[in-house]
Amino acid sequence: MIIDDQTYDIIIIGTGAGGGTLAYKLASTGKKILILERGNFMPLEDQNRSDVDVFKREWYHPSEKWYDNAGEPFSPQTNYAVGGNTKIYGAALLRMREKDFEAVQHQDGISPEWPLKYQDFEPYYTEAEQLYKVHGKSGQDPSDPLRSIDYPYPAVNHEPPIQEIVDAIATLGLHPATLPLSLTRQTDDPTGDAEVFGISLVLGFPNVTLKTDAKVVCLHTNASGNQVKSVETEIKGQKYLFSSDVVVLACGAINSASLLLRSANEKHPNGLANSSDQVGRNLMQPLMTAIVQLSTTPNSGKFPRTVYLNDFYWGEGDFPYPMGHIQNTGGLLQELIFAESPPILSVLAKVVPDIALEQLAKRSIGWWVQTETLPNHHNRVRLKGEKLYIDYTPNNIEAHDRLVHRWIGTLKQVEKTLEHSLFNRSSIYPRSEIPVQVTANHCGTCCFGEDPTTSVLDLNCRTHDVENLYVVDGSFFPSSASVNPTLTIIANALRVGKHLRNW
Ligand SMILES: Cc1cc2nc3c(=O)[nH]c(=O)nc-3n(C[C@H](O)[C@H](O)[C@H](O)COP(=O)(O)OP(=O)(O)OC[C@H]3O[C@@H](n4cnc5c(N)ncnc54)[C@H](O)[C@@H]3O)c2cc1C
Repeated sequence: MIIDDQTYDIIIIGTGAGGGTLAYKLASTGKKILILERGNFMPLEDQNRSDVDVFKREWYHPSEKWYDNAGEPFSPQTNYAVGGNTKIYGAALLRMREKDFEAVQHQDGISPEWPLKYQDFEPYYTEAEQLYKVHGKSGQDPSDPLRSIDYPYPAVNHEPPIQEIVDAIATLGLHPATLPLSLTRQTDDPTGDAEVFGISLVLGFPNVTLKTDAKVVCLHTNASGNQVKSVETEIKGQKYLFSSDVVVLACGAINSASLLLRSANEKHPNGLANSSDQVGRNLMQPLMTAIVQLSTTPNSGKFPRTVYLNDFYWGEGDFPYPMGHIQNTGGLLQELIFAESPPILSVLAKVVPDIALEQLAKRSIGWWVQTETLPNHHNRVRLKGEKLYIDYTPNNIEAHDRLVHRWIGTLKQVEKTLEHSLFNRSSIYPRSEIPVQVTANHCGTCCFGEDPTTSVLDLNCRTHDVENLYVVDGSFFPSSASVNPTLTIIANALRVGKHLRNW
């Protein structure tokens, strides 16, 4: 074991949406910051732009195995790299709606109230949209929350085939809106992520050190158990111990919880900061179904997602419960998650020859249908020896099914109104639910709250049990909402960063 003889003010573990953004917020304080990231920089050619290769193979699955409810091993789709999962994400950055922060009755139970409200997050949403150069247009979606300032950049135009559908959807009295996207405005690498807008902005600071290929394996506390004393890390086969006044976990909702559970010791026998027995529990993965609309007219196969609908977000006439959110996918040749979908789409992707697959993808328009899942004590990250288990049973399924059928019905109506019959009217809409292996949009596991018996983190995302330990990633969510989580993770990192700047 090598003991690093330097001491740091802050150690940040992980460089995704939470960690990368927090590093940016803290770098200018002059505090001595060490960033530990288990992955490395991703060369541009390995990123989510590799056409059929990405679409067809499990490109972003690390070699490690996790285990499902039934004890079956699987390789998770999670990206260990500088920028974390934002290096492969779709960059759709949406604000949660005001009501998402309140207790809401769903068909399958209650989505709990957040201890802070939309108004508390609004200034940080604004800051997050500026930092991540979000391109959007307000005023199109009736569920839009109030904003103090408009989007910093204009919305991206729809591709012609999407524009035609958008116009047809609007004639049905629905409200298709332009999807807010993080974009660099550079042609070679247009997607904005936590490397571009977080880590790369801090590397020039003399007070900031980034160590890559640095996997944190355990947090050690002092004798009384109220402070993290050192961070045990493996770097190229060698173990190191690093120390700092403050330690921030930002490994993502599953890995942060797993690291706390792995760091159990005499003072914390159920896992570090786990006197509440809440660490790892209430794991949430919004229900997602991919729907493919087959077209007779080719498209480029490579274009950004640009449209979303929230007309059914809070329900509809005879179903007064939240149903969820709908987005078009990007061009199917670059939509990573399609390659990960179970039966229909993934089998298709794996058996169809490359050229045929490319042609098929270029004659398709994809849609994501997303529904909030509710926190459940039994849905959890759990350790048995060295093995990491994901116990997960989806809920709120009826609301999701309803939205899926509603959307397919809408697409059928739309096709009838298209003069030139862009689509083949085959009425076949291959669709597929997203399995637990795809860790997109995971959250929960270290919920924040005022009561240390029912939450892991306080309102500043500091653990109730350990004075100098924070968790700043998707773990802190008390409920998942139906919109994608990352803008809220970024906004929260800026909020906690403001607190830590004065620490
Ligand atoms: C294909 C795909 C598409 C998506 N599209 C969208 C979208 O359009 N909009 C949206 O809002 N969200 C999207 N998401 C979700 C989004 O990527 C996540 O919500 C977000 O990245 C989570 O941020 P995080 O900080 O919690 O964790 P992550 O971004 O996962 O970052 C965790 C970091 O910790 C590092 N790490 C983990 N363990 C250790 C360890 N032991 N030691 C050191 N480092 C460690 C990881 O390497 C990583 O860098 C998508 C996700 C995927 C996979």
